[in-house]
Amino acid sequence: MTRTVYVNGEYLPETEAKVSIFDRGFLMADAVYEVTSVLGGKLIDFEGHAVRLKRSLDELDMQEPCTKDELLAIHRKLVELNDIDEGMIYLQVTRGSDGDRDFVFPDPETTKPTIVLFTQNKPGLADSPASKKGAKIISIEDIRWGRRDIKTVQLLYPSMGKMMAKAAGADDAWMVEDGYVTEGTSNNAYYVKNGKIITRPLSNDILHGITRKAVLRLAQEAQMEIEERLFTIDEAKEADEAFTTSASAFVMPVVEIDGAMLGDGTPGPIAKRLREIYLDESRKAAI
Ligand code: PMP
Repeated sequence: MTRTVYVNGEYLPETEAKVSIFDRGFLMADAVYEVTSVLGGKLIDFEGHAVRLKRSLDELDMQEPCTKDELLAIHRKLVELNDIDEGMIYLQVTRGSDGDRDFVFPDPETTKPTIVLFTQNKPGLADSPASKKGAKIISIEDIRWGRRDIKTVQLLYPSMGKMMAKAAGADDAWMVEDGYVTEGTSNNAYYVKNGKIITRPLSNDILHGITRKAVLRLAQEAQMEIEERLFTIDEAKEADEAFTTSASAFVMPVVEIDGAMLGDGTPGPIAKRLREIYLDESRKAAI
């Protein structure tokens, strides 16, 4: 089945969808994005993603391409047209194209943002074998820019991080700045010691994960102890267990960090429990 995608007001077969070569998303990574999961044909935490998109746009003085209600309608229509039961919807908004290349932002009166959405069909997403095995992590230096709270499409270094992990026989990388873990290449990072969940507090240094917010709330409701503070890789290597959170992988147990096995090398009880609770609650709240 040919995927139907959305570009600037039109639903098109993916082979017919076009964006200008002068688009600032393409030339300058002048663009922001969101990824929303679909479970049982419904959207997980659409509200959170819509609010963060607005924040990213505001931080970059970029116009909103449409209202939140329109955005919801586009998401739902793409799910329907592409018959998605489990998967993701990728959304990208760029500052558009004024038909040439210039560092200076184009006039928002005459240059409208580009908006693109497409679906990724992932049957079995909630029940992924990777989540049962757990992830092996390596640590790498965090050399990204200083506004990681804005969800821009500058994903070259995270891509390189995943390649470094692959080359080392691991699944993903956690990034370290000034001796402290910031986050994973595409997820927020946590470890658990003596029943307490430790994760880095929110700041401009990390993305304010939509899944992070939901999981911390659910952990609190389940009477789990949480401490938001800076932590080192050495501390995490001594953990009883660890995990990451993201909209597309939910709660992913971590079983090895820089070659050090955590616990018995299988997903830990807290990560497993949080994954279950998160998936249950998300399905209930999905729209
Ligand atoms: N940090 C980074 C760097 C990410 O790319 C992501 C996923 N986009 C996350 C954290 C997790 O955010 P969310 O839970 O909103 O997917």
